[in-house]
Amino acid sequence: MAFTLAPLPYAFNALEPHIDARTVEIHHDKHHAAYVTNLNKALEKHPELSSKTIVELIGNLAAVPEDIRTAVRNNGGGTLNHDLFWQTMSAKGGKPAGALAGAIDKSFGSYDAFREKLSAAAVGQFGSGWAFLLVDGAGKLDILSTPGHDTPLMKGVAAKTGTPILVVDVWEHAYYLKYQNRRADFVAAWWNLVNWGKVAELYGKVL
Ligand code: MN
Repeated sequence: MAFTLAPLPYAFNALEPHIDARTVEIHHDKHHAAYVTNLNKALEKHPELSSKTIVELIGNLAAVPEDIRTAVRNNGGGTLNHDLFWQTMSAKGGKPAGALAGAIDKSFGSYDAFREKLSAAAVGQFGSGWAFLLVDGAGKLDILSTPGHDTPLMKGVAAKTGTPILVVDVWEHAYYLKYQNRRADFVAAWWNLVNWGKVAELYGKVL
């Protein structure tokens, strides 16, 4: 069965003024949509893979036939990363609470230190990529930036493995209309949009 584009969980203008409606519309309906389409196109060549989930496919890329491996890596990663990116934003903002807030303090020293470290990973990623907050099997939080659409779910590919529970997209298509070359300003604005309730829910599922 072909994969489908997850609908945006809010209106195009829901993230304004931090991310403008036109950027959200193009980003979801054109960029994200194209990753889903191109993932399905690649998989059409290998119907024996049709029962696999995206996580299963990208979690073991070595088992994906070589002729579609790069397409599955780029478009499978692109599909999943965007799903998480949209889900973990909302207009509400706020700060982490409960067990997640405790884990942030334990792993990074403080919320401010965590924020600084994730921002630095996002701003410092050379070229297109992502910056993740991830959880390992023991509940420890970590930060990872990746090039392209790589994710810590790609065992043997990404520099660290774990489950991503928050992500910021630093491809230029995520911010160029409003912020042009000012990626740091975009990342600073993105912090106002983090859906901490959703991040806490994803954290709880891993433990
Ligand atoms: Mn993107």
